[in-house]
Amino acid sequence: MFEYAPAPESRSVVDLKPSYGLFIDGKFVDPADGSGFKSINPASEEVLAEVAEGGAQDVDRAVRAARRAYEKVWGPMPGRDRAKYLFRIARIIQERSRELAVLESLDNGKPIKESRDVDLPLVAAHFFYYAGWADKLPHAGFGPDPKPIGVAGQVIPWNFPLLMLAWKIAPALAAGNTVVLKPAETTPLTALLFAEICQQADLPAGVVNIVTGAGETGRALVEHDGVDKVAFTGSTDVGRAIARAVAGSRKKLTLELGGKAANIVFDDAPVDQAVEGIVNGIFFNQGHVCCAGSRLLIQESVADRVLESLKRRMAQLRVGDPLDKNTDIGAINSAAQLARIKELSDAGSAEGAERWSPPCELPDRGFWFAPTIFTGVTQAHRIAREEIFGPVLSVLTFRTPAEAVEKANNTPYGLSAGIWTEKGSRILWMADRLRAGVVWANTFNKFDPTSPFGGYKESGYGREGGRHGLEAYLNV
Ligand code: NAD
Repeated sequence: MFEYAPAPESRSVVDLKPSYGLFIDGKFVDPADGSGFKSINPASEEVLAEVAEGGAQDVDRAVRAARRAYEKVWGPMPGRDRAKYLFRIARIIQERSRELAVLESLDNGKPIKESRDVDLPLVAAHFFYYAGWADKLPHAGFGPDPKPIGVAGQVIPWNFPLLMLAWKIAPALAAGNTVVLKPAETTPLTALLFAEICQQADLPAGVVNIVTGAGETGRALVEHDGVDKVAFTGSTDVGRAIARAVAGSRKKLTLELGGKAANIVFDDAPVDQAVEGIVNGIFFNQGHVCCAGSRLLIQESVADRVLESLKRRMAQLRVGDPLDKNTDIGAINSAAQLARIKELSDAGSAEGAERWSPPCELPDRGFWFAPTIFTGVTQAHRIAREEIFGPVLSVLTFRTPAEAVEKANNTPYGLSAGIWTEKGSRILWMADRLRAGVVWANTFNKFDPTSPFGGYKESGYGREGGRHGLEAYLNV
């Protein structure tokens, strides 16, 4: 076997400042009480920058700025002019995509080949796609003259920091709303670079406001009286708290929450292709993916063959420096997330499932977890029920399609599912019965801005992406 030579991407393309303020009304400003927190590189634990912590007063200032911009500039602006700004932002994202990809990998820990080839192209595509809708809203199927809602308060998680920002901001702006967005506390840096892009695009002041901070900042935003629409992506527990806080108010709400997707492999599936799909389904982005295929259901007659191939493939995965272009699995995003993954994996062993990881040397500093599978998992095990949000796969078996459907649906979540089979009729039969917002057939984790995405049951409500994604930002 030849060894891979290191192929590190240069970080010199990123111009990090030692500290960042809040982006309110088109300018970077200090928080009212002067407090801040550090954003670190999870692969090395090095401090990347000091970031302002927004309090209730700062949130209020941002919401007022967004209201003024909505009433005076953005709301009344013809859709064709809003489109020009969105196209401009999309083009700047493409021009600066290397810089954004490197910063995303530094702050989040994801491999550069993913931030460069998946996150950034999708971010730009999202802005291009919704820019195209801005002057065509009367043809979107929501009546002849659909109106924006007003000011959107948006809270996003850390697993796809810039992509989640794009999913939130692009449709909101296209529909004529203004926004206050709170990025996750462990990954605020690309949102702040996006704020600089808004300045570069001459976006009118107050249309986009970025208030950094942790859960309390998010709470102040979703509870603010001046917010007309709340959009949240994150955990089911926080989603529930937000639904309670917003209940009884006039605010519209969409929730994109957790998942525990079944990836179902039938005995007639092409094994090598399915194994690639299984690996992509659970090890992409360290498994920090809401729609990850974290429960593998294999038809019993081929289980041994599939598992043998899967283990052989897993032994080839390269874990390490996120900025190395050969890296397949990067760092876990935070010490807290690593502790959660360890806790649930230990529970898997304690409950009697069999644990396996390929031999794999992990770096000394930073937060790391080797790709892991559990076999002999039953429906009752915690690792079959709870979202681990890490590179950990629980493997179950089934005998008949009906049993596969029953096991796949036996979860409080319903975000996504995958089916691997040669038979088209079986794909349709299964897709009809799976209670999941997205069902992939002979592929997994494929995203496109034209396609709606969202959950059933405790995975949330509302759809993002596609024409459907406009509905959440229009008074229809
Ligand atoms: P989290 O719920 O802990 O945090 C998400 C965001 O909410 C962060 O910005 C956080 O600061 C903020 N927040 C925390 N408490 C809050 C409160 N009381 N009020 C308002 N905001 C608050 O989730 P996380 O750990 O950052 O992200 C992981 C979760 O996100 C997983 O469960 C994953 O499945 C889910 N997720 C879902 C989707 C989807 O589209 N369905 C996409 C990505 C991630």
